[in-house]
Amino acid sequence: MESKIWLSSPHMGGGEMKYIQEAFDHNWVAPLGKNVDEFEIAIQDFLGENKYAAALSSGTAALHLALIQLGVGSGDEVLCQSFTFSASANPIKYLGATPVFVDSDKTNWNISPEYLEMAIADRIKNHKKPKAVIVVHLYGMPAKMDEILEICNRYEIPLVEDSAESLGSKYKGRKCGTFGEFAVLSFNGNKIITTSGGGALMTGTKEQKNKTIFLSTQARDPAPHYQHSEVGYNYRLSNICAGIGRGQMEVLEKRILQRRANHDFYKELFADVEAVDVFTEANSDFYSNHWLTSITLNPNLTTRTKEELTAAFAERNIETRPLWKPMHLQPVFRECRYYGENVAEELFNRGLCLPSGSNLNDDDKTRIRAVVSRFNF
Ligand SMILES: *Cc1c(COP(=O)(O)O)cnc(C)c1O
Repeated sequence: MESKIWLSSPHMGGGEMKYIQEAFDHNWVAPLGKNVDEFEIAIQDFLGENKYAAALSSGTAALHLALIQLGVGSGDEVLCQSFTFSASANPIKYLGATPVFVDSDKTNWNISPEYLEMAIADRIKNHKKPKAVIVVHLYGMPAKMDEILEICNRYEIPLVEDSAESLGSKYKGRKCGTFGEFAVLSFNGNKIITTSGGGALMTGTKEQKNKTIFLSTQARDPAPHYQHSEVGYNYRLSNICAGIGRGQMEVLEKRILQRRANHDFYKELFADVEAVDVFTEANSDFYSNHWLTSITLNPNLTTRTKEELTAAFAERNIETRPLWKPMHLQPVFRECRYYGENVAEELFNRGLCLPSGSNLNDDDKTRIRAVVSRFNF
């Protein structure tokens, strides 16, 4: 059996172990310490725009704490992009609130400004003004932020950015993760950089950062004994994991370029395959980290299916993945309202993510190329 080519696997930079060793040397084997502090500073320096980072145990935890701080509670509604990973929507449910899903833009794949506005207007008409909007920069592609922010500002609804897949992406030169009142980062094992598991919440103020840390460490009041006036969570990032994160931040710029080079490889590979579209930036306003390069098959130009292509890759031990199945089609969210048509559903039916790890080597690319050139599209 040939060695497996993964969709997106961890790629260490070499600096990680020294930070982990440091934590051991000083016995800071705990969910606090120098690595956590320094990791947060590195994230803040990278994203800029005077944003603050609170390092947490996962991106999902970050989203949960963002919604809590926006006052989302039982009976509330939160608008959420339907075309995403379930972690974008689950925290809405944790709070007893109801997700309302919105379809995607045809060329951008993220939340459609038109359907977003339609959804807001209709929910307000029904006396259910949404408590927040969750926008996702899927596969690294920045959403149409000007339009989305204009709508959110006009209706005075706070925006949460799910930037779990888009660290290093930019919209009109400004980094994803700096637009929303809150923004979520993920350092799960398959993301552009990893802490094995981890996340961060980006906030606009120091107070929000402090509140996030407070909530993530069991919400302990300043008292000599253990006193609690609020429900707390155990969501802080481990100092060991943060050590990995510090090492990974040192190679982040390199990782972005490597992922973008993979994307160029696929654009070249499919250049002459009319039936395949490689998902790419519409224009220079958008700069994607190309976390995962994705393609769609055009059913008017080929009878071959994405399942057949997946099987052809699997035969050479190459992992691929269907595009996210939209949330409004998920059994767990079947009761939820949805605004849109079938844009996300169409993408799901026709699309595939291809191996996109920054550690993809020339031999891997040769094997991928061989599958594509033998597949009769
Ligand atoms: C990975 C991911 C998350 C969740 O992050 P975790 O760190 O795994 O909890 C949220 N949203 C999207 C779009 C993701 O891809």
